[in-house]
Amino acid sequence: ATLDRTATTEPTVSAFTHLATESLLAQAADIDRRRVAGESLGPLAGIPIAIKDVLCTADMPTTCSSKMLKDFHPPYDATVVAKLRSADALLVGKTNMDEFAMGASTENSAFGVTRNPWDLTRTPGGSSGGAAAVVAAQNVPLSLGSDTGGSIRQPAAFCGVTGLKPTYGRVSRFGLVAFASSLDQVGPLGWDVADTALLLDHIAGFDPRDSTSLDAPVEDYSAAAAKPDVKGMRIGVMRGQLDDPGLDPDARSAVAAAIDVYRDAGATLVDVEFAHSKYWVPTYYIIAPCEASSNLSRYDGAHYGHRAEIDEAAAKKDGPLVATYCKSRSEGFGDEVKRRIMLGTYALSEGYSAKYYAKSLRVRRLIRGDYDAAFEKVDALLSPVTPSAAFPLGDKMEDPLQMYLCDLFTVGANLAGIPALSLPAGTTESGLPLGVQLQAPPLKESTLFRAGAMFQ
Ligand code: GLN
Repeated sequence: ATLDRTATTEPTVSAFTHLATESLLAQAADIDRRRVAGESLGPLAGIPIAIKDVLCTADMPTTCSSKMLKDFHPPYDATVVAKLRSADALLVGKTNMDEFAMGASTENSAFGVTRNPWDLTRTPGGSSGGAAAVVAAQNVPLSLGSDTGGSIRQPAAFCGVTGLKPTYGRVSRFGLVAFASSLDQVGPLGWDVADTALLLDHIAGFDPRDSTSLDAPVEDYSAAAAKPDVKGMRIGVMRGQLDDPGLDPDARSAVAAAIDVYRDAGATLVDVEFAHSKYWVPTYYIIAPCEASSNLSRYDGAHYGHRAEIDEAAAKKDGPLVATYCKSRSEGFGDEVKRRIMLGTYALSEGYSAKYYAKSLRVRRLIRGDYDAAFEKVDALLSPVTPSAAFPLGDKMEDPLQMYLCDLFTVGANLAGIPALSLPAGTTESGLPLGVQLQAPPLKESTLFRAGAMFQ
């Protein structure tokens, strides 16, 4: 059914970078054989799951939608991928994304854009646009994405599906190609809260191969999703965000409607102040490019990635090594990745790093402090996910700042390391999906699922 459905939608939606048709059928046949033989099966047996092309897969290419990694076949599986295999999930293929997860529309892919299944003239969001589109197009019930600054939650909102960024360290990053290591987190996307919780059940947990992995017990997320309840729950609302001129009226009314639902269901709504929320985007756009410029230095045509042919003149002028680095990186990376590398290199350079990088780390502490203070008063925060519903393809490609402002409401959770859930919350008048976001203290994913399931 997955392959049939994909054959119908993929010619227009274009969400996959790789469809693993043969191995999918072989895996399915094997599970069926074991079922018939009465052998025990894993908890995700037979469930088709798609994987964002930023996670290493031993039997499929891993491109990060970049020319740089066009021919990369990892020799190993990311921990999350290995976990899915051992739970007997069916790995359907790899999904399109913004190159190296930098972007908010999946238009920065070296392999072409992905379209929003609800309206093919619009973006599915990004960077996990493919992972959200394959769930929305009903190719698969579940997918894995990554979220450094909203990349699971924003596409989930644009595509009318559910997406979770877990607590930093809750899910292993081993085998996740690094963008900004202190912000990156792998997470699930699904049709609803229960499905999303089920996938988190099977990917969460301590991993000795990830030095930032949290050695904390994994809660039963499915059980939380099965008991929707907000009675007595204190839910905070950042008034400042709702009054933000960047928030369009449709997205604002989605939050207003959610406030009513929660109040009627017995939650107490509390206004909270976030003194530093206007620094979320600027802080993120210093820290993320700084870390990216360091992480992406490995792609030089010698250690990793595309290697360009250099001519004799270039080799003579710069020396063969430097000439190879320059040409390989010039050819291999797209414009947005180059922009981030330049921004990050600048902000880390001598004379500027104290002014930009060190300062943004201090502001990051203040941002985390706002959350800590808020979570003394409330159990969860309710907010918009995105400033608007899905925008038309091409709309923001000429103006990077406009693209960065898509992250207005999402990057706070990454800077603070807290979990955040994006939930479908109705549609605009023209029928485009809208989302709302719930955020909770570190490791309180269960709170998000309990409250999220109540809303659905
Ligand atoms: N829009 C954000 C960025 O471009 C999203 C990044 C992400 O979460 N991978 O950096």
